[in-house]
Amino acid sequence: MTTTSKLIHGYEVVIGFETHTQLATQSKIFSRAPTAFGAEPNTQACAVDLALPGTLPVMNREAVACAIKLGLALGSTIAPESIFARKNYFYPDLPKGYQISQFEIPVVQGGEVSFFLGDEKKTVRLVRAHLEEDAGKSLHEDFIGQSGIDLNRAGTPLLEIVTEPDIRSSEEAVAYARELHKIVTWIGICDGNMQEGSFRCDANVSVRKPGAPLGTRREIKNLNSFKFMQQAIDYEIRWQIDQIEDGHAIQQATVLFDPDTGETRAMRTKEDAADYRYFPDPDLPPLRISEQWVQEERARMPELPRTMAARFVADYGLPEYDATTLTQSKAMAAYFEEAAKASGQPKLASNWIMGEISRRVNAGETDIAAAPVTAALLAKLVGRIADGTISNAAARQVFEALWTGEGSDVDALIEAKGLKQMNDSGALEKIIDEVIAANPDNVAQFKAGKDKAFNALVGQAMKASRGKANPQQVNDMLRAKLAAA
Ligand code: ADP
Ligand code: MG
Repeated sequence: MTTTSKLIHGYEVVIGFETHTQLATQSKIFSRAPTAFGAEPNTQACAVDLALPGTLPVMNREAVACAIKLGLALGSTIAPESIFARKNYFYPDLPKGYQISQFEIPVVQGGEVSFFLGDEKKTVRLVRAHLEEDAGKSLHEDFIGQSGIDLNRAGTPLLEIVTEPDIRSSEEAVAYARELHKIVTWIGICDGNMQEGSFRCDANVSVRKPGAPLGTRREIKNLNSFKFMQQAIDYEIRWQIDQIEDGHAIQQATVLFDPDTGETRAMRTKEDAADYRYFPDPDLPPLRISEQWVQEERARMPELPRTMAARFVADYGLPEYDATTLTQSKAMAAYFEEAAKASGQPKLASNWIMGEISRRVNAGETDIAAAPVTAALLAKLVGRIADGTISNAAARQVFEALWTGEGSDVDALIEAKGLKQMNDSGALEKIIDEVIAANPDNVAQFKAGKDKAFNALVGQAMKASRGKANPQQVNDMLRAKLAAA
């Protein structure tokens, strides 16, 4: 439920998402064939997946456990009894002539996904999440002018997560998708690999004048990168507004985004549910989930990102922004917690992780879990800043040396590089006296009330100490001397 929405040329944007998450089970949803990606075509499909006569589907318990976990993570109702239905359509990569899905009674009902967009909190309500099987793939081998069918993907378990049309912009759509992606990977039900199609989003987009009934939607299929998602939705919004402004009505349709042209293109007019002739699958009994099973899954759930962020605020006194950022991935959260506990300096640790470390991780240098500066090393480093041994600037040099493998012991590096802050007040006093004597203009300006002149004097003293003086100590001493002079 979004509260505010910005208008584009006087139109309000309305978006609802359907996301197919491929469940991280070893075997398929109704057969024992493996789900591994990238194998030789048709080597991972058994008789059930090929729809040979006489075969029957058997529900994979692990796929159901994944659905329960998602329901628990999103505050949904987990249906004690849900029904599998046949969705009938003809396509070469669907050998049975129907897809087993859930229609009237899905396993997961309701729930919501909340996230921050800037500092505004958004909540998107979910309609449902249902279990279904994936289809195979048609491979078009242009060079021999033939098409082939690969049924390795047939029967791969999917959980399709459907939202209410609560999203109001392309930015919000991407933020929703990122949050959902974070949750499904965090609870371990999906590997989140978008390139391999493990997390595929369909964005239903319409526009309307504020207060008007919902406009006709077009559904952009198979968005498998966050970048394309934003581009595709932005293009689609502009296209629909142009059409309406030119006096054309929007036709409900399924469209594809072409990353090369940056445009969306109609693929087919949209089927209605009636076209699929859904009916309950007589081969599968109703899916029953006991309260005890739900409790067992609850006990196995990891602490969720939202709960963990709240705990970081409460236990470590972090700002909410830091806590939210640090819980973007389980690995980052674990890294932070180890560094915070070992150093007793949560805010300093957070600053380094959100700054220097994230920059390098995001640049693709490494995963945070494999970073050459381990949480234990970072803890040691921020400990040396906190106890006044080194300045921030010196710490950056030590960090660089740790990262590049020049050394692996914080204290030894501080020693070897001569980075210890000057805590000897006698030596510092001498430097300050010299700076005051050498800069009479700045001193006069400071006395005339110019703060900038004071900063210049601090800078001079820091420089004279070759960065080893403690800036706070320089500040205090300088102020005292100038007041006395
Ligand atoms: P279907 O299953 O035929 O695609 P649904 O009614 O289940 O249709 O809706 C699919 C998705 O489209 C949902 O996420 C829903 O919120 C969204 N949706 C429905 N109507 C609109 C609309 N007018 N504009 C944008 N999104 C919509
Ligand atoms: Mg749809």
